[in-house]
Amino acid sequence: MSLAGKVVLLTGASSGIGAATAVFLSKLGAQLSLTGRNVENLKKVCEECEEPSSIFSVPADLTKESDIEKIVKNTIDHYGKIDVLVNNAGIIETGTIENTSLGQYDRLMNTNVRSIYYLTMLAVPHLIKTKGNIVNISSVNGIRSFPGVLAYNVSKAAVDQFTRCVALELAPKGVRVNCINPGVILTELQKRGGMTEEQYAAFLVRTKETHALGRPGQPDEVAATIAFLASDLASNITGVSV
Ligand code: NDP
Repeated sequence: MSLAGKVVLLTGASSGIGAATAVFLSKLGAQLSLTGRNVENLKKVCEECEEPSSIFSVPADLTKESDIEKIVKNTIDHYGKIDVLVNNAGIIETGTIENTSLGQYDRLMNTNVRSIYYLTMLAVPHLIKTKGNIVNISSVNGIRSFPGVLAYNVSKAAVDQFTRCVALELAPKGVRVNCINPGVILTELQKRGGMTEEQYAAFLVRTKETHALGRPGQPDEVAATIAFLASDLASNITGVSV
């Protein structure tokens, strides 16, 4: 599997799955445009990649339209093209219909759905030129309903539907669009979303029953799936949730 010569624009590269994906893709020869909010973490991830000096990064907050515009413009100014867009950045919020505020709902939908919509919209003309592809990071929560994370479930279901629709729209133009629906992956996501250490420990214990393999996944394992979908090995795959 090779991504040599492919320009990959990856969001959420400063942590977790995105950080692992940056390192994984760099080893496959991808030319990376990495983005995230935490500049220090972005720098650390660049240093872990193959040929750190060649990695391009754009600090940006995906809830701001001007930042999304900056990511695409800077990537094109730097590399002249985009072959792959990986929409990975995301957050989780806990809450039910009785206690999720509109503010929480908006923050979640702006980060997990609206940003993907706008970034994809701006990247598509470039992806049509390269006959490139998009990999969206959804979640098992997009397919199944889990209690206590209502807005997150809704946001990921939207990512799944977005993937299928855009895949149909862009297939005639040679652009593939797929998504990945991981179960629990060992990152900071849940704790950043408000889970205490104690709750997180219990959550991980439950993965023994809730996950067919009896364990949570590692960021590297998701990175490998992203790499496959992004590569030419997946040239006949579009509109699929993995
Ligand atoms: P992390 O919290 O480790 O990473 C999330 C990434 O998203 C960070 O790089 C973060 O940037 C970025 N991000 C969040 N909000 C914004 C924003 N407003 N603007 C720009 N960047 C932002 O979580 P994961 O790596 O676990 O999550 C990655 C994706 O995987 C998410 O979409 C998540 O929903 C999905 N997922 C995760 C699972 C899990 O169990 N971990 C399971 C299924 C799906 P920064 O740190 O710089 O703020």
